[in-house]
Amino acid sequence: MLKKFFITIGIICVLCLVSVSLYLMLKERNVIVLAYHKVVPKEIKEKYYKDDPWIDTTERFEKQMKFLYDHNYESLSMDEYEKWRNKKRDISLKTVMITIDDGDIETYYEIMPILKKYNLKGTYFAIGESIKDSSEKYDPSRKQFLNKELIEKIKQEYPNLEIQSHSYGMHNRNNNVPYVFDMSKEEIEKDFDNMKEIDDEIDVYCYPYGLHTDTILEVLEEKKYRMAFKLDKSGISKISDNKYLIPRVGVNYDTSFANFKKWLIKAIIL
Ligand SMILES: [Zn+2]
Repeated sequence: MLKKFFITIGIICVLCLVSVSLYLMLKERNVIVLAYHKVVPKEIKEKYYKDDPWIDTTERFEKQMKFLYDHNYESLSMDEYEKWRNKKRDISLKTVMITIDDGDIETYYEIMPILKKYNLKGTYFAIGESIKDSSEKYDPSRKQFLNKELIEKIKQEYPNLEIQSHSYGMHNRNNNVPYVFDMSKEEIEKDFDNMKEIDDEIDVYCYPYGLHTDTILEVLEEKKYRMAFKLDKSGISKISDNKYLIPRVGVNYDTSFANFKKWLIKAIIL
């Protein structure tokens, strides 16, 4: 009697396992798109940026990247991601895109070495008007942005970290209203043209504050941008997503490691 019971349970378990495996094998793939910002060493975070959740620590960032590496996650470049969207490339169940907003100077000093160490690809979205010609000494206790020299160095030292646009001068607010809501179509077009002068290969956009309007969508189309990224709560990108409304999830100091892992699992099974 007991033997029969265990055999039945065993058969049920095997059937469950086979069904789950089949489901995972056949289901449509997703990409989880992670959005990072400035990261600084832990002691700097504690001393200068305690209350700003959007400034995370290098140590926490490294722990997350190591997790992706240890668990064989594939990280995509923009080209690879676009190929997948256009059905010209397959991806594995565990696929991420690593994006970094704003082009803070830490993109070079803190983030790039970690991506390099774990052989992960990434994209940073720079704010054009923040990029200065001259170089200054790196000081993580201050707000500093990448300069032209460091952008060049990233290209040379780690081409797997690519530059794209976070607008030239739209990452601002006027009386608390983000610029995108106040600007005319001509002004937005001009902003796009200014960004092309920083690097004429830029053709992917990330909305400042994650916000978009119909006008900016029109400009993206006109300027032949390939894709644009917004923010949402899951960051799960599906092949059917509108190419100008691709979701990303913001990872910040409030993101626990357990939550980070939960997001990754969700992107596999949903
Ligand atoms: Zn930003």
